[in-house]
Parts: sequence; structure tokens; C-alpha cells
Amino acid sequence: MTTSLVINRLTALLSAPQISTQPSELEHYGRDWTRFVAPAPLAVVFPKTPAEVQQVILLANELAFSVVPSGGRTGLSGGAMACNGEVVLSLERMNKILEFNHIDRTLRCQAGVVTEDIQRAAQAHDLFYPVDFASAGSSQIGGNISTNAGGIRVIRYGLTRDWVAGLTVVTGAGEILELNHGLVKNATGYDLRHLFIGAEGTLGIVVEATLRLTRPPQRPQVLILGVTDSRSMMYVLEQFRQCDLLAFEFFDAAALERVVAAHGLQRPFATSSHYYVLIEHDASSCSQETLMGYFEGCCEAGWVEDGVISQSEAQAQTLWALRERISETITPFTPYKNDISVRICDVPDFLEQTERCVKQNFPQFEVVWFGHIGDGNLHLNLLRPENMDIAEFKLACESVNDKIMHIIARFHGSVSAEHGIGLLKKRYLSKSRSDAELRLMRAVRASFDPNGVLNPGKLF
Ligand SMILES: Cc1cc2nc3c(=O)[nH]c(=O)nc-3n(C[C@H](O)[C@H](O)[C@H](O)COP(=O)(O)OP(=O)(O)OC[C@H]3O[C@@H](n4cnc5c(N)ncnc54)[C@H](O)[C@@H]3O)c2cc1C
Repeated sequence: MTTSLVINRLTALLSAPQISTQPSELEHYGRDWTRFVAPAPLAVVFPKTPAEVQQVILLANELAFSVVPSGGRTGLSGGAMACNGEVVLSLERMNKILEFNHIDRTLRCQAGVVTEDIQRAAQAHDLFYPVDFASAGSSQIGGNISTNAGGIRVIRYGLTRDWVAGLTVVTGAGEILELNHGLVKNATGYDLRHLFIGAEGTLGIVVEATLRLTRPPQRPQVLILGVTDSRSMMYVLEQFRQCDLLAFEFFDAAALERVVAAHGLQRPFATSSHYYVLIEHDASSCSQETLMGYFEGCCEAGWVEDGVISQSEAQAQTLWALRERISETITPFTPYKNDISVRICDVPDFLEQTERCVKQNFPQFEVVWFGHIGDGNLHLNLLRPENMDIAEFKLACESVNDKIMHIIARFHGSVSAEHGIGLLKKRYLSKSRSDAELRLMRAVRASFDPNGVLNPGKLF
């Protein structure tokens, strides 16, 4: 297979503006948010219809080239990286909302619709698409489905998986499958739809999705509380769970300092704490008196040192910014990220053991913790010192990361809670999955993509 043959045959399938080999575009579309590997794709294609996606996949099987499905490229595990002469298949131009159904409360769309546009479309019908996170303005629904994205409201609404009522996919073999057709009930054997959710583009390309919508929360209200230690965070969760919780997030003092300094934001209150929790609840189901009672109870028990409760939507957004802007704030430091989870009840022990391990082994690195602690999901970020080369930093992190992964395995936790395995977490997959599971996963992959054209080298 030569490059010119692939380009010539692609040109016969697609129009000229749908194919690019421009170096700047190869660089742009050949990478995601990660910066540990250099992009080097052969070409980028921009199909506009499922049939065009199918044609590209059939050609990949015929000529034996690899295809990397590419969404909004906000992934944090290198799943959308194209580093070895692959053809990047961008869903960017498949960005139409196709149908809204008010009886079913569903929305059918192409896979390249940006997550925030789905949220806006739902809002236009007085409904709510609850999957949300800081990258929602760039990520695409196909990418969200392929990573089973979580985000800030999982504690109340679940993961992307819970909102997918139907999928159309083009498999690695080039077959088009229409899965579940938006049905609520469908007991007809294996639900293949769920295999494609979280598959990181290794089984097929999601080309369309039918998404469920729900009623929006009535009166979201946000609190930030300064908390003394990890155990106290769990007691606070237990206490505030009596409200209709929409989010229960956390960040540490280092994260707060960085965000406040980078964006000129105000600290939530003067007192400094080791950890901060951000709680969002629906105030329509809990009186202010009750809420204050919980807050005072937490202070009296010594779990909470200080706190603030939003009095307006604008203030709620300002408080959210302290949590939501952490990722972008630390990005210039090429953070080595671990997106890990354990059972919620194990969070305090796990956090203590991991913090100790990081302090002992990384005394030279700044550590920033934040995440969706109400789901048992913690983001551990090591920041690269200014004068350290990226490759050297990655090696240093990996040498100690094995120890952290052992701790996760002891807790039967996950080495990737919501960001996927991609390229960067492959070496740790066996800490969360047994040999038997991996063997079956390989067999599933081979069934859908017998020639291995889709996202080779990702996941395993
Ligand atoms: C600031 C920031 C905050 C974030 N916060 C969160 C968070 O709170 N929760 C969370 O879960 N994630 C979070 N992420 C990670 C990321 O946004 C999600 O993983 C998101 O779902 C990726 O979507 P994307 O369209 O950008 O996918 P991409 O990065 O383009 O791709 C991700 C994977 O999906 C595959 N893929 C993409 N589109 C398709 C398709 N149509 N068919 C088949 N495979 C496809 C790719 O090959 C790749 O393996 C965050 C990222 C950033 C940068």
C-alpha cells in the first residue's frame, strides 16, 4: 500500500475538500488533548454521511490502512492520537441534529454534534441533556459515547451510557448496524449498543445516536465547603445526600491556588482547607433552613471549616468556575493524569494511601487533586517542572505510577474511570481487568473488526 494509492482511492470516494494532507491539518486532527506522543497521520478525511464513512472503512479493509476515529479531540488518554500513518476520520462535518421526539423525549443526531449543542437543543424544548463537563463546548457526542463520558452530574444522572437509546454504527468490517432504535424495552438477546459505548472507536464508528432527555432541575444551588480531611468529605457526602444532589465534586488546596491565580478569581472564603467540596443540589426539594442545618451540623462535627452557599445563578456559576477551570489551568504544565476510581466507601483509605505514595516518590513534583469524589472518581495530576523534558517527565511518572496502580488493584478499583485507556493507560489495563476478560475483549474486537483497521494499538 502506498500513500498515493490510498489518497487516489479516497479521492474517488469523497470530494476534494473532504480530504486533507496539509501538515497543519495533520498536526491538528492527528492529536487529542494529550501531549506525550507526536501526531503523524497520513491524511484526514471528513465524511458527511454514514454511507461515506462506510466507503472509507471498506477501502481501509481492501487496502489495509488504519483508521483513527476523531471527535472533538478533547480525550485525555490518547485514544484519538494518530501517530503511525493512519487515516484520521473526523466526524466534524456530521454535525446535524436530525429529529426531536417530544413523546419519547429523545433527540436523534449525527455523531459529530458538539455536546454543548445537544444541551442547547434540549433546552430549546424545555428539556435537559445532563451529561456535562468542562470540555462540553468542544467534545462531540460520538466521542462522548465512545468514552462513555461521565462528568460532573453522574451522582444524579449517571454516565453517557444511561442516555443512549439508539445507535447507528459502521463496524470495522464496514457493516452498518442500527442498534435498539430508541426503544425503552428490548429483550431480544445481546444489546450490542452497549458494546460500542466506551469502545474508544475500536469496534466501529458511531455515526448517529438517539439520546434520551429529561426534565431540567428546578433550582440548582451550589455550595463550596472547606473540609479537613478525606474521611470528613465522606461524612459531608452522607449528610448532604439527604438533599436532591446534582453534583458532589472535590479539589485540593493546590488546585484552588492555581485556578485563583490563573484567572483572577476570588477565593470562596478566607479560610484555607486541605480539601474543598463543591456540592450542587436542587433547592426546590430542600428548604434553606434544612440546608443550613446540614452545614452547621458538619461544622459542629469538625468536618467542615468554612463554606459558602450561592445566592444567585451568577454566584453559582462563579463557584463552579473554581472547579471547572482546573483542567485548563494546569494544561500548560503537561500534567501526567491518572483518572482513577474506587468504591465510594473506599475513597478515604485509597486517597490516604495514594497521597502517601505520591509524596514519598514524587517529592520533586507538584501534585493537584480534583474530581468527582461523589462517584469515587479522583483525578490525580502531576505537574511537569518547567525545566524538565516531556519524555523524561513521562518516564519518571510511569516509574512510580506502577506503585499507584498496585494500590488501585488492591482496592479492585479502575485505572481509568471515565477517560478511557487509549494509548496512555494500556500498560495498566491488566490491573483492572482479568486475563479472561481481556481474552474475551480481544475476541469481541476481532468479531467487529476482523482486519484490525480501527484504532490499532489503542486499548490493547
Ligand atoms: C478540560 C477537560 C475536561 C474534561 N472533563 C471530563 C469529565 O469530567 N468527564 C469525562 O468523562 N471526560 C472529561 N474529559 C475528557 C473528554 O472530554 C471526554 O473523554 C470526551 O468524551 C471526549 O470526546 P471527544 O469528542 O473529544 O472525543 P475524542 O477525543 O475525539 O475521541 C475519544 C475516543 O473516542 C473515539 N471516537 C471519537 N469519535 C468517535 C466516533 N464517532 N465513533 C467511534 N469512536 C469515536 C476516538 O477514536 C478516541 O478513542 C475532559 C477533557 C478536558 C480537555
